[in-house]
Amino acid sequence: MFLMRIVMMGPPGSGKGTRAHIISELYGIPVITTGDMLRGAVREKTEYGIEAKAYMDRGDLVPDSIVNGIVMDRMGKPDVEKGFILDGYPRSVNQADALDGILKKMGIELTHVLSVVLSDKVIIERLSKRRSCPVCNEIYHLISKPPKKEEVCDKCGARLILRKDDKETVVRYRLLVYKETTHQLLERYEKLGLVVETDGKIPLDGLRVHLKELLG
Ligand code: ADP
Repeated sequence: MFLMRIVMMGPPGSGKGTRAHIISELYGIPVITTGDMLRGAVREKTEYGIEAKAYMDRGDLVPDSIVNGIVMDRMGKPDVEKGFILDGYPRSVNQADALDGILKKMGIELTHVLSVVLSDKVIIERLSKRRSCPVCNEIYHLISKPPKKEEVCDKCGARLILRKDDKETVVRYRLLVYKETTHQLLERYEKLGLVVETDGKIPLDGLRVHLKELLG
């Protein structure tokens, strides 16, 4: 059987997470989201979490040593044998090298790098209206996907928040970090013939069909 081993690439707020979750349902494979894992560590005040918090609040990348460690642990779990979707990793050359090492050790290769394309203008607009559940990580949008009850998570009932790093000044900085550090990874994966593009503007209700067509 053909197993999907996918990396999601694209600027913050482009819709990587939304796509990752649809793909996860379509193919029954786990999503490994470094942002959620790091936010969990911050909430639980683990050693990693305490160190990561300051970087995340200002929109900087958390040091590679921390993130590589978290991903390496996660990739050792048995559910990854069915395939996986990495969302938010790798984000630097060092992380891409680390991922190559992890995959080599496991004797497997990536099958797709899904690149979400969206302009800065739309991203800034979108993130200012994004609301997140701090407990179950569900994402809402005040206009395109509002919660049923104002400011409350449909899934778990927690109070929704605007993430500190979704404020406009921090979003602009995250976009800069993406352009300087992460975007170049696309070239590396293009050389390997792995990159498939998806338009970040495709509306939610058309995404399932679109992704199925794209990935086969
Ligand atoms: P977005 O993709 O919208 O920027 P994420 O939830 O993926 O949001 O990431 C939020 C923050 O978590 C990042 O700004 C960064 O501080 C940290 N982070 C997530 N993934 C990584 C990673 N692979 N390397 C370094 N930092 C990361």
